Amino acid sequence: MTEIIDGNAVAEGIREELTSCVESLASDDERPTLATVLMSPDPASETYVSMKQNDCEEIGIETRDVEIDLDAPASDLFETIDDLNADDDVNAILVQSPVPDHIDYREVLERIDPLKDVDAFHPENVGRLVAGYPRYKPCTPHGIQQLLAATDVETEGKDAVIVGRSRIVGKPMANLFIQKAPGGNATTTVCHSRTDDLASKTREADIVVGAAGVPELIDGSMLTEGTVVIDVGINRVDADNEKGYELVGDVDFESAKEKASAITPVPGGVGPMTRAMLLYNTVKATSLQTDIDVELP
Ligand code: NAD
Repeated sequence: MTEIIDGNAVAEGIREELTSCVESLASDDERPTLATVLMSPDPASETYVSMKQNDCEEIGIETRDVEIDLDAPASDLFETIDDLNADDDVNAILVQSPVPDHIDYREVLERIDPLKDVDAFHPENVGRLVAGYPRYKPCTPHGIQQLLAATDVETEGKDAVIVGRSRIVGKPMANLFIQKAPGGNATTTVCHSRTDDLASKTREADIVVGAAGVPELIDGSMLTEGTVVIDVGINRVDADNEKGYELVGDVDFESAKEKASAITPVPGGVGPMTRAMLLYNTVKATSLQTDIDVELP
């Protein structure tokens, strides 16, 4: 019987534990605060930012909402980041991507104080992860690690195959899987757009993580019986419904389910975990900045 991994339920449990951490920090007058900065040409970004703010408010994290005109000069964004870096009442900063073309996103990432960098994209935080002493873990791969732990999937000694090598999912996922730490110790293969014969790699896997952004790239014929399948993909495909589209993952759920021992659905798998891990990092950032210990989930 294939287990359908319920990301909503696991995320809810984590949010409950984080609520206690937030209350404990607040009782010391250190309620966590996340600042979001929106300067994005993608219309969906506004929705993402408001979802993140609602998530925070639901568990007692305060939010600051900064919006910058799309045609404002880069200096406006950098000055905003500098002000938030210097503001002791702000523990965490998130600049929603993408930013307009006239702004160098790398410069944006490097400008954020690494201690407030709850996306964990600053080179210092990336470097710490690669070196094996992460401060913050990027939200999506961290969420997957927590999801596997909650599902009692052992990673140690297992063959993990990640499909995708992006900065935000594939690469940090690989770094987490190879850590000599709980949730790591997996023998890890990273596949990408130039990989020859993808199916021969995924068929060798105990755990497959699909993060290519290609609708239903991985189907049951590419899996071996008993594989744990984690689907990161969120892809819009045309559909004959009111909205005119539906969301599908990178995995062909129906055929993969026939082979998998456990599988995440889309939606309701990795997505809610990514959102919960932003809250986790915001709580952790506050704890690190205030030297108040909290018991993180
Ligand atoms: P990306 O476009 O930055 O990277 C995709 C990666 O997949 C690249 O490294 C590329 O080499 C690889 N790839 C592309 N086609 C491939 C193929 N045919 N075979 C093997 N590898 C291939 O994407 P991303 O930002 O990592 O996102 C990947 C997917 O995950 C997208 O659908 C995105 O919407 C989704 N996503 C979901 C969450 C979540 O919380 N659920 C978070 C981030 C991204």
